[in-house]
Amino acid sequence: MRFFLFLYQMSGKVYLIGAGPGDPGLLTLRGKEILEKADVVVYDRLVSPAILGMCNPKAKMVDVGKMPQHHKVKQSEINKLLVQFASEMPDGTIARLKGGDPFVFGRGGEEALELVAAGVEFEIVPGITSAISVPAYAGIPVSHRGIATSFHIITGHEKAESNGELSLDFETLAKCQGTLIFLMGIANMDFIAQRLVECGKDPKTPVAFIEKGTSPYQRTVMATLATAGETIARENVTAPAITIMGGVVELGRSLAWKKNLPLSGKRLVVTRAAKQASGITARLAALGAEVIETPMIETRTLSAPITPKVIASPRSLSAVEAGARQSKASVFDTIADFDILAFTSVNGVESFFKQLFAAGYDVRVLAGKKIASVGKITEKKLLEYGIRCDYVPEDHTGDGLGKLLASLNLDDSRVLLLQGNLADDTLQRLLPKATRWVVYETLPVSELPEWKREAVAMADAVVFASTSAVENFIKTMPQRDEDMDSNSVPRTSFCIGRMTESAARKHDFETVTSDETTMDSLVNKIVEYYTK
Ligand code: SAH
Repeated sequence: MRFFLFLYQMSGKVYLIGAGPGDPGLLTLRGKEILEKADVVVYDRLVSPAILGMCNPKAKMVDVGKMPQHHKVKQSEINKLLVQFASEMPDGTIARLKGGDPFVFGRGGEEALELVAAGVEFEIVPGITSAISVPAYAGIPVSHRGIATSFHIITGHEKAESNGELSLDFETLAKCQGTLIFLMGIANMDFIAQRLVECGKDPKTPVAFIEKGTSPYQRTVMATLATAGETIARENVTAPAITIMGGVVELGRSLAWKKNLPLSGKRLVVTRAAKQASGITARLAALGAEVIETPMIETRTLSAPITPKVIASPRSLSAVEAGARQSKASVFDTIADFDILAFTSVNGVESFFKQLFAAGYDVRVLAGKKIASVGKITEKKLLEYGIRCDYVPEDHTGDGLGKLLASLNLDDSRVLLLQGNLADDTLQRLLPKATRWVVYETLPVSELPEWKREAVAMADAVVFASTSAVENFIKTMPQRDEDMDSNSVPRTSFCIGRMTESAARKHDFETVTSDETTMDSLVNKIVEYYTK
């Protein structure tokens, strides 16, 4: 035991995480928690880009489903890779992300055994297996009172070493009254169906093939055991697909629901900043779309607050940052000069405290101060630091906050504003003598990771809410010139506002523009566009 404890401390921890069948909403909370803090993510081909988008943006992303020459990495190499990352990163969090559940035909057991042998600490985070969830998304319950009292999950792929034939006991399978669910079985299904009939299973048994289940491209093809092979060929059913056999399949005719959602089958790119995007992402996903969040700006906490007096222009922040860093202790000493600290964003709160703690101070610096927040979300963030707000305007805008503070008839030179470099001057106009500290900066995203570029290229449309989002999107994606695949960027765009629309047109997008400048109006427009 001691020996193992010693070894554990020397290596990072590996999490074998089930990503679920594809729909990002079917990842577990535990899985998401680990991905958000992972240092490395080793992932398979079947993992959806929306889930990759949840990973820590700083994580090293290793695609073992497809490598530079499009060869799959061998299982033994994946095992070695996991051990290697764990030993290179003593405190590291290594996420091994696999489709469905890691222990359902996922070779998770083999990877775990290798970790045990190497003395690497690990955790299994189960996932929702495609075996049950893919039929559910097609409206097929795997068990049903009066129809199936058991279900059996079978690999249609494993060959016996002795004779190279499928290692399935067809006699026994044919006798099963329960639902039969085959994973990885498409290539061999003609043979499997024939053998089941030869062994006595009713050739009229209903069969469904469900392709790319839970994704925007989910498709269900119905057949019977007698017609299974020819149906696969005629309908060109391709992997990944599940085959489900038994009376329950008929229920899919009444219970299919996913394919009836208005945005089913659509993959949309949302270019808003992550914090703003989640609202629209959730709404589009609930309507059946798969959403790839691709924010075009990111925020960075400055190493110390900078007062705008020393900022020549918003673009030269890093030059003045070095100077500010040297005097950061004294900056926080000047907090004594203020009575009110006003926060106008969650980023402002997080950045301020990061800087404060890094300079060796803590919240006692704020003792006796009044705290103002622009709105409820910022107020909630402050509460996480143990700070209750004294002033929050009714209308949750900078204008509202400025007017509220001005109405207090205090000396506004005692007000400190904690903001980002791009904050507008509303507050300063209303409180002319207030001091402003810039605690974070907003930068355009300059590069997208390869997996994201690929996912974006396969999307049906892009959602733009500003001209800068359009311009930056074009910069980060390969251009649509003659040398490039003409599909490298989706052609359709959904825009908020006429300015955004004309920027998108300039770059050859077809544009669909919302009637009003709200997300609600845009979502309605998207649904209208795809259902007309
Ligand atoms: N561990 C996975 C299964 C891995 S085997 C799980 O628990 O789901 C890979 C097989 O799973 C594929 O060949 C296919 O049969 C099935 N599969 C996985 N995802 C699927 C999906 N989204 N739609 C249809 N079949 C899927």
